[in-house]
Amino acid sequence: MGGRRDYYEVLGVSRDASQEEIKKAYRKLARQYHPDANPQDKDAEAKFKEIAEAYAVLSDPEKRAQYDRFGHAAFQQGGAGGPGFDFDTFARQGFGGFDDLFDMFFEAFGGGRARTRPQKGADLRVDLELSFKEAAFGVEKEIQVPRSERCEVCGGSGAAPGTKPETCPLCRGTGHVQFAQQTIFGRMVQTRTCDRCRGEGRVITRPCPNCQGSGQVRRTRRIQVKVPAGVDDGFRLRLAGEGEAGALGGPPGDLYVYIHVRPHRLFQRDGHDIWCEVNVSFVQAALGDEIRVPTLDGETILRIPEGTQTGTVFRLKGKGIPYLHGHGRGDQHVRVKVVTPTRPTERQKELLREFARLSGEEMPREEKGFFGRMKDAFMG
Ligand SMILES: [Zn+2]
Ligand SMILES: [Zn+2]
Repeated sequence: MGGRRDYYEVLGVSRDASQEEIKKAYRKLARQYHPDANPQDKDAEAKFKEIAEAYAVLSDPEKRAQYDRFGHAAFQQGGAGGPGFDFDTFARQGFGGFDDLFDMFFEAFGGGRARTRPQKGADLRVDLELSFKEAAFGVEKEIQVPRSERCEVCGGSGAAPGTKPETCPLCRGTGHVQFAQQTIFGRMVQTRTCDRCRGEGRVITRPCPNCQGSGQVRRTRRIQVKVPAGVDDGFRLRLAGEGEAGALGGPPGDLYVYIHVRPHRLFQRDGHDIWCEVNVSFVQAALGDEIRVPTLDGETILRIPEGTQTGTVFRLKGKGIPYLHGHGRGDQHVRVKVVTPTRPTERQKELLREFARLSGEEMPREEKGFFGRMKDAFMG
């Protein structure tokens, strides 16, 4: 497309033009450059497209405001289409009083597509919730999918058994009809979608009793889904051909299964590694011990060394999540939390004081009671 011209410039209006002025300018230019008034003229065609695009933006107050602020960049994200302007939608929505003009416009630009081509069915989405372990080790689940399927009585043709869809006598199978009309631009030949066959190019004289001629039936299908080991929350499985039936003999769409994983009581997941926290008493931490640690495969024994600090992380190799479509597993990380005794007995306190004395620590303050502590706090 090259450099894009300013929309106001395209329509030849000032930046503060009223909606009425924009409409008027557009109307005038559209007539001038309409493809039907300029047959075979590629320049006029391009110009007309440009005008329509400018009008689509400037006639919409919201789009116009965006354009005023950001220029063409405001509509650049439109995707592969380039101008961020969807001609089909534009044409289908039409504009009050402009429908005829836009029908013609639509026909001129890729319109008149006969719907006789087989079309792929729509894709479907289902959500599947898994437990933490199911996601880790994989699982087979049955899901129920409401979808349209090809009617097995007529094989999708829509015609009653023993009959066949016939070529539309009105359009002779093309899906559209041409007709001449006197318009403001002069006499024109226009093309319209055939009413008789609704553009399909064929008609069914005796509809199939099972699908009433649509060629498709609604059905809730049970499908077994094999979830591989190692999937995670947000993962998407594609089941090819399990979506909606295609039209006119086209292939069915695909089914996408979106995975949701419930959190685990003990484990957090980090990619293929998992984390958990275990409590140990301060005696265990000080002297070292063998502690029981939960893993995805059941309990295991973890040896913690003498003098373990709270927050120390130990690694259990290969106790994490299996790699998706691969061999091996991630690791499990065990974070140790040292728990301080909350209600020591008199005898225990005595031993702790003894311990402190032997460590050369300053003696913990004797119980002074609440007011004593407050006094300390205020007096420094
Ligand atoms: Zn049928
Ligand atoms: Zn027809």
